[in-house]
Amino acid sequence: MSEQWIYLNGQFVPKHEAKVSVYDHGYLYGDGVFEGIRVYSGNVFRLKEHLIRLYESAKSIMLDIPYTLAEMTEAVAATIRRNELVDGYIRLVISRGDGNLGLDPASCPRPNIVIIAEQLALFPAEYYQTGIPIITVATRRNRPDVLSPQVKSLNYLNNILVKLEAKLAGVQEALMLNEQGYVAEGSGDNVFLVKGNKLITPPSSAGALEGITRNAIMELGEQLGYDVREEVFTRHDVYVADEVFLTGTAAEVIAVIKVDGRTIGDGTPGAHTNRLLEAFRQLVVQDGEKIYTADQVS
Ligand code: PMP
Repeated sequence: MSEQWIYLNGQFVPKHEAKVSVYDHGYLYGDGVFEGIRVYSGNVFRLKEHLIRLYESAKSIMLDIPYTLAEMTEAVAATIRRNELVDGYIRLVISRGDGNLGLDPASCPRPNIVIIAEQLALFPAEYYQTGIPIITVATRRNRPDVLSPQVKSLNYLNNILVKLEAKLAGVQEALMLNEQGYVAEGSGDNVFLVKGNKLITPPSSAGALEGITRNAIMELGEQLGYDVREEVFTRHDVYVADEVFLTGTAAEVIAVIKVDGRTIGDGTPGAHTNRLLEAFRQLVVQDGEKIYTADQVS
């Protein structure tokens, strides 16, 4: 396989030489923001939405990204072209940058900007064929008034604690509840319930990240005639849903077949989930912001 090139502050660096300082505040304090983006058949799926979310996260933590949106778009495109990536995953990381050991971001004169474009390590195919069992965990979603889940920051410890609990219980993913006990989201994905003709997902105010995949599924759901709702719901609502599924850039649409030991539906991926997954897979190849195929490599 040819060399993988990492975009690091405007330069392309071979993967094994792409390094940032131990004084980077992203490393020292989780001070920074990131995005995960997919490329399908040379189409970058909803790049603009991802970049808007990135810039909003950065604004929220007063991190000035020294690129315009157009420049960042071009940097992502250049990274894709350089790696001749047709299908894969982009990780865009903006940390506060190198500083001293104090918390104050003032010691960091400029952010470190990293773009990684790689062949996706896809979720195992059987997840899509059989669906996955999940649990709800004791770890609560961090409160929006403490650290908003809308800030996609480098501080993902809340999510990591969820992942640890899930793995300890022998499952791959789990749902977190918010401080009021309503369902918020998974460790790295949003959650949807199907009940009759209703397609329900928690509102962002309940602690759910406004996922790009979530928004796409809500649009597709409307087009397919579902009654799409952003509503809070409880664990009980999850247990008695007709179908439950997770959405995310990495996960796409994954059926949930068991929650806390309760079988969902007949314990296999449901027809609605499969229909939405199929619609999503059609959308992602049609709906790219721009096409950056390998044959455009200059
Ligand atoms: N929630 C969390 C906590 C996430 O990290 C992600 C992945 N970005 C999602 C939801 C799904 O969002 P998206 O569809 O934009 O990937």
